[in-house]
Amino acid sequence: MEKASFPKELLTKVIESNNKIWIEQYKTMTNFSKGYYQKLENFFRFHKFTNKPFNLFVLKDVEEYIEVLFDNDYAPNLIDSVISNLSSFKNFLIVQYPDNFSQSFLSNILSLKIGTKEKKYAESRPLTYKQLTHIKQYIKSNIRTEYIFNVFYQLGIDKKNFHVCSPNNAVREKNSFVKENIEIEFNFVIAELLTRVMLEPNFKATPNMISAHLKKIQMYLSDNNLLEEDQTITYNDIIKTHERFFFICPNCDRKKENISSNWILVKTSINNELQLICSECKGQL
Ligand SMILES: [Zn+2]
Repeated sequence: MEKASFPKELLTKVIESNNKIWIEQYKTMTNFSKGYYQKLENFFRFHKFTNKPFNLFVLKDVEEYIEVLFDNDYAPNLIDSVISNLSSFKNFLIVQYPDNFSQSFLSNILSLKIGTKEKKYAESRPLTYKQLTHIKQYIKSNIRTEYIFNVFYQLGIDKKNFHVCSPNNAVREKNSFVKENIEIEFNFVIAELLTRVMLEPNFKATPNMISAHLKKIQMYLSDNNLLEEDQTITYNDIIKTHERFFFICPNCDRKKENISSNWILVKTSINNELQLICSECKGQL
């Protein structure tokens, strides 16, 4: 895998003067590795922070930077280490410069960490109908989030096969992703999504990006009061959601979501009973 790198055009050469002083002070009074301070300096070289002293930062600023990291395929543990560094730095500043940094300054910064621990299957639970409806709207705001969520939700695949479901592996004639000897069939939702993805320059959806995008969904639900206390959203929750909202057609065995257009009522020739059959096979084989 190629190494993640920060887009150069989003970096400035200089660090805002107050920030520079604070970092220098931090370096003098602590004893971390060179790479540790480097991460901090890179953060403050983000082009949007050129004129902004750190004490005026809000969580949204940090979030914006983090977003660039995960859009550029930084590994979740690396992103989390940046957040940890910033958290230690701000704690240092609160002590050293109480006139500039309030006690509550960036108090929620650690909540931005994306390395949400994967829950065991037994501990996870499906999204509710309401949560799912909101998510389907929300993911339209970012095609990578939409892709990652839908590959899991629509296909219910094993996480370790996510790399198979890359747009490069899509074989349209088969409606399948094919890589080496693994073949994963996709439905019309994914087919339509692939058409849009093809129009996106530099589209990427790698296994590294999964937790960050699920974390975004979690934050969205949380911001809209749609999460239960301490509820996190991880891969297994999405798989359970798939199992809850997809049914197997009793005639053709295809798995279809519980959307009315996917299903029709078919009358058997033996009695007048109406049965729910998928609209693709319509009860014929
Ligand atoms: Zn069917």
